[in-house]
Amino acid sequence: MSTSEKITSKQAIALEEKHGAHNYHPLPVVLSCGEGVFVWDVEGKRYYDFLSAYSAVNQGHCHPKIVGALTEQAQKLALTSRAFHNDVLGQYEKYITGIFGYDKVLPMNTGAEAVETAIKLCRKWAYRKKGVPENQAKIVVCENNFHGRTTTIVSFSNDPDGYKDYGPFTPGFIRIPYNDVDALKEALKDPNVAGFLFEPIQGEAGVFVPDEGYLTKTYELCKQNNVLFIADEVQTGIARTGKMLACDHENVKPDVVILGKAISGGLYPVSAVLANDDVMLVIKPGEHGSTFGGNPVAAKVAMAALEVIVEEKLAERAERLGELLRKELRAIKSDMLTLVRGKGLLNAIVIKPKGDKTAMDVCLKMAENGLLAKPTHGDKIRFAPPLVISEEQLMECVEIIRKSIESFE
Ligand code: PMP
Repeated sequence: MSTSEKITSKQAIALEEKHGAHNYHPLPVVLSCGEGVFVWDVEGKRYYDFLSAYSAVNQGHCHPKIVGALTEQAQKLALTSRAFHNDVLGQYEKYITGIFGYDKVLPMNTGAEAVETAIKLCRKWAYRKKGVPENQAKIVVCENNFHGRTTTIVSFSNDPDGYKDYGPFTPGFIRIPYNDVDALKEALKDPNVAGFLFEPIQGEAGVFVPDEGYLTKTYELCKQNNVLFIADEVQTGIARTGKMLACDHENVKPDVVILGKAISGGLYPVSAVLANDDVMLVIKPGEHGSTFGGNPVAAKVAMAALEVIVEEKLAERAERLGELLRKELRAIKSDMLTLVRGKGLLNAIVIKPKGDKTAMDVCLKMAENGLLAKPTHGDKIRFAPPLVISEEQLMECVEIIRKSIESFE
């Protein structure tokens, strides 16, 4: 078979099974194109995408403005490394820091790399600014966190799938329960704590939304203790929850913001760490970087992707349609549907198994009915469509979800 030959779903899955590492367990659907809220499989069946590549495709699949930026820049200049300047990076840096209100940005590629960057930045700040003795800095993290897959990041995960057999682990992290202000207060008694790293809503844990006031209270505790408030907005950022950042819901401004995924509209791996000069400038030339970080294609793509969010008012749309989605989902009468939660268009339902029918069976049924979503932690299904979805399309999706769940009654 030549590499360009058209193949069936069955053939494509068999090839992956035989030649690819078995580090994922995808739904048995093979996609070959996408546009807006829709994706099509190789047999031509159309689906609503209710995962949006874990919130990377907030702007919709193959958004023409972002595709245009990508193809135009790719034909001009793709990569220089940071050994030389390029004529796009500075413009992007000015644009993104302006949008989010920070002095500086440090560009990377994946979410995990941006988290690693924030950890290194926090540690260096601890030694250079806070006066923590060498190699003693600690960062407080939360139970059920998901910040990526690197060795250091899985060192502070409590999900065995994430950390088991990957030790020895990186020290320097204190894990406390999420949504527990007193636990943070206690942890901050240690003078060597330099940062609090958290997700404003825990996405991978099943869209766990903390109590109102959690962000404000933890922010204040960090300020009182000279500890950096570090928000991982890789999944919650870029309008997904109804605001540009999820922290905006409580009007708190993190010392360090970590962005990824939708910062490129899903067209290119782009991530970023934002901070003000007193923090960011502790890293000096040669002390951190990445060959691809800040390349001209990434910079052009990210600028276009952010412009789409602003021009198409996608935060406002996510807020409005999220309310509607949760209201409609809560109206579905089924013993299997035990909980609906979320913010903006980052939502999840919790499925109680019926006989041998689980959340996976609900997802397979929804796929059959033309909507793609994926279970997480067994019983939860995330609902996070591209933010460009219309109200009419959303209502059609609610019908598909209703019909699928009720088919098990
Ligand atoms: N942080 C959060 C909050 C995430 O949800 C994810 C990915 N699901 C990451 C970091 C890691 O991003 P990446 O897969 O691009 O490394």
